Amino acid sequence: MDIRFLGGAREVGRSAILVDGSLLLDFGMLTATPPQFPVETPSPDAVVVSHGHLDHVGTLPALLSGTERPPIHWTPPTQELALTLARDTLKLHGVSASGARGGSKRRRRFGGTLQCPFTETDVGRMTQVSETHGYGEPFETAGYEITFYNAGHIPGSAHVLVDDGDTRLLYTGDFHTGDQRLVSGTTARPAADVVLCESTYSDVDHDPRGDVERRFAESVETTLWEGGTVVVPAFAIGRTQEMLLICAAHDIPCYVDGMGKEVTRMLLRHPEFVRDADALRRAKSHARFVTGRDGQRKRITDQKAAIITTSGMLSGGPAMTYIPEIRSNPTNKITMTGYQVEGTPGRELVETGSAEIDGRIMPVSARVEQYDFSAHADRDGLLAFLDDYRDAEVLVNHGDRCEQFADELREDGYDASAPELGDRVTVE
Ligand SMILES: [Zn+2]
Repeated sequence: MDIRFLGGAREVGRSAILVDGSLLLDFGMLTATPPQFPVETPSPDAVVVSHGHLDHVGTLPALLSGTERPPIHWTPPTQELALTLARDTLKLHGVSASGARGGSKRRRRFGGTLQCPFTETDVGRMTQVSETHGYGEPFETAGYEITFYNAGHIPGSAHVLVDDGDTRLLYTGDFHTGDQRLVSGTTARPAADVVLCESTYSDVDHDPRGDVERRFAESVETTLWEGGTVVVPAFAIGRTQEMLLICAAHDIPCYVDGMGKEVTRMLLRHPEFVRDADALRRAKSHARFVTGRDGQRKRITDQKAAIITTSGMLSGGPAMTYIPEIRSNPTNKITMTGYQVEGTPGRELVETGSAEIDGRIMPVSARVEQYDFSAHADRDGLLAFLDDYRDAEVLVNHGDRCEQFADELREDGYDASAPELGDRVTVE
């Protein structure tokens, strides 16, 4: 088996792995200015997708612009998330089928060129080539037997087992070994000869989830009791629903805004892919969905409630309306709920206490806090997972310190390496 790394090697973003030139695993986009895509656009016989995050699905429609249109295999939630994200990318960077540019004000131009490698027509074709599968249901494509296993990262996320009859490759995708309220941690450890393993948090130890949640809930409750409002920036996919579940469990009054609303409704149409669909249904009724009509956003900023909203790193979305409204009152609070990438307004706010919102530097008197509600395994989680694969060859990807982690694994007796972007590795 021959594995080529077209993206996501020694980096996070634009994951893309080509097996024997014919089977493509993921085809993501790296969010940056300008966005970055896999180093090559291959012509695979089939595509298999691990989960519906932009860095794993973001460039998929570009595979459908020619006459050869490979089938795309994924779970039902992954398909829906990929479509939602592709439409959003078109709005931000795209050109419509008629040649007109995307109508959104949020659309950005980089150096005068529009940075989207696909069109509305390509996005429309995604549904035509889509083939959905559940966990533990093997299927054949491009001469391989493929099986999905629950990866515990977000709803629909999968470990992908690829079997060519000789070699079994386990592509972990992003995964979490610990339970979240929205999804249970991964427990599946299918036998494999080669493990291609993510390593996002290979040098991080998460605090126990229950502690993080308790600290968050107490902090929000205190602010509401003092008469303040809490803005909770959260990623639309996974994190928004997790925060809804936490607010419902602690009876914290909350609003929800941004793309996370649509994702919540979608997930309730696929209850078998969430840990507790009844709890998610209750959390959805507990929250008030913001329509944004008639100045509602400005009005609710003095409601003594939590406002869960995109974007998670303050780089767009309705958060840009809420932050300027609440920032000058020190009774208010902003609670970041995930990792803040360097160069984002969220990171700036956490580090300096002010942030550039819509082109204006805004000092923030409201208190700013950071919580680690990660959906990835931490160092202990990665090591516990890999402990079941001591005899396998381990290829480390999807991380900022892939080489160091591979070194550490080798010291621990593993046959491990961290291929570079563009590398071709032969495994058996
Ligand atoms: Zn992910």
